[in-house]
Amino acid sequence: MADAVDLFVIGAGSGGVRAARIASGYGAKVMIAEEYRVGGTCVIRGCVPKKLLVYAARFADEFEDAAGYGWTVPEPTFNWATLIANKDREIARLEAAYTTNLERAKVAIVKSRAVLVDAHTVKLVATGQTVHAKHILIATGGAPSLGKDIEGHQHVISSNEAFHLKELPKRIVIQGGGYIAVEFASIFNGLGSEVTLVYRGDNILRGFDEDLRTHLRAEMEKRGIKIVTKKIVEAIEQVDHGLCVELSGHDDVMADRVMFATGRRPNVAGLGLETAGVKLNEKGAIEVNEFSQTSVPHIYAVGDVTDRIALTPVAIREGHAFADTVFGAKSIKVDHTNVPTAVFSEPECGVIGLTQAEACKQLDKVDIYKTSFRPMKATLAGRDTRTFMKLVVDGSTDRLVGCHIVGPDAGEMIQLIGIAVRMKATKADFDATMAVHPTAAEELVTMREKAGSYVRQAAE
Ligand SMILES: Cc1cc2nc3c(=O)[nH]c(=O)nc-3n(C[C@H](O)[C@H](O)[C@H](O)COP(=O)(O)OP(=O)(O)OC[C@H]3O[C@@H](n4cnc5c(N)ncnc54)[C@H](O)[C@@H]3O)c2cc1C
Repeated sequence: MADAVDLFVIGAGSGGVRAARIASGYGAKVMIAEEYRVGGTCVIRGCVPKKLLVYAARFADEFEDAAGYGWTVPEPTFNWATLIANKDREIARLEAAYTTNLERAKVAIVKSRAVLVDAHTVKLVATGQTVHAKHILIATGGAPSLGKDIEGHQHVISSNEAFHLKELPKRIVIQGGGYIAVEFASIFNGLGSEVTLVYRGDNILRGFDEDLRTHLRAEMEKRGIKIVTKKIVEAIEQVDHGLCVELSGHDDVMADRVMFATGRRPNVAGLGLETAGVKLNEKGAIEVNEFSQTSVPHIYAVGDVTDRIALTPVAIREGHAFADTVFGAKSIKVDHTNVPTAVFSEPECGVIGLTQAEACKQLDKVDIYKTSFRPMKATLAGRDTRTFMKLVVDGSTDRLVGCHIVGPDAGEMIQLIGIAVRMKATKADFDATMAVHPTAAEELVTMREKAGSYVRQAAE
């Protein structure tokens, strides 16, 4: 006989886990199905393992920079297998903690793929059992999309496999220009691989502020990453000494590994959405309203499967808001504006709000403040690197509408700038804030000279 629950959650990732726990806390009978590992992309093969690899890669600079500060460091050696084993142990610990938290919240966990058989019935593929659900939450996330089937496609890995390579590749070609491509390029570069980043557009990090893109690219190139733009990987051939990667324009690059980070697609295939009447949008993601409700009123969707802003804190917030609204008698919408975010490249980026170009399109008057300086730590280290900061200000109201940083700890800084932006801080508030000296962040409150002022031209 079929089980009956108040809420069935498909996918135990960032959004699904939060929604399940909160809904259960309101007294709902909740079941969650996971086909791979509890914790989802972020914990198992996204943010967390990636940040651990970022930490590992950054030691290279620390060893080098120490000499300028009087340290004698013996020739450091790196062991990839140790890093991966330690990372895997930490991920297993986190997976267990997520499972325990769900159990403590009295959520029933099923280790199985789940699909919809009709608008109120979910089938557990592992056992064939069906479950009747008053409400269903689809939180199935996304998966790497490797593009069209080129010759030698079988040699391509995605970020999923990059976390489990047996050996650190001596040479790697990474195709893509988004944050995952840029982050893995920095990771492999820091760990000692020879990295070529191939991107079909004219510069990395499309959609980010132009100055930030230019600055980061220059910094990555200084570190020895070869960035090839306006080209694509056309074919890959296994030859004697590795993989011969053919780029458009008949350029060949030799590599031991080829990774594609060319975007992610929502996990909707084979879910039974059509049978349940759940509509997709033009991007192939589940269409939802501001309450994450799909075209079927008792079926909701949160996180990457809805392709709004594919970030963990956003998925968590959407899952929480859904549970509050449907089971907590509160009416909560998630505000998707001014989401601060970081790119864990080397150096790191932190951004929030409008780019200069967006502000100039949307606002009547825009003031720009920017600075570029050598971080203090780089002086004795003798490292050739610069930090970049830009403030985008609404010239009519003096409000800060965007901030773009490239430099150490940019992610930490942008989290706090995020509060100021939410609170509608003005440039005058920044100016009135006492600096913390000596820090890099003090530059954010000491930029006095405008780098530019732009007035929107009236349409002809
Ligand atoms: C390499 C990488 C690095 C990232 N770095 C960051 C970062 O630094 N910061 C950040 O904020 N975000 C980062 N992200 C994005 C972040 O991981 C996602 O936005 C977030 O995990 C989305 O959460 P979700 O709940 O929508 O889906 P997910 O966390 O992907 O969870 C979906 C779960 O559903 C399961 N599932 C799918 N279909 C079914 C089914 N039919 N039945 C049962 N289970 C199913 C999957 O196995 C998965 O566990 C990164 C992503 C990647 C790939």
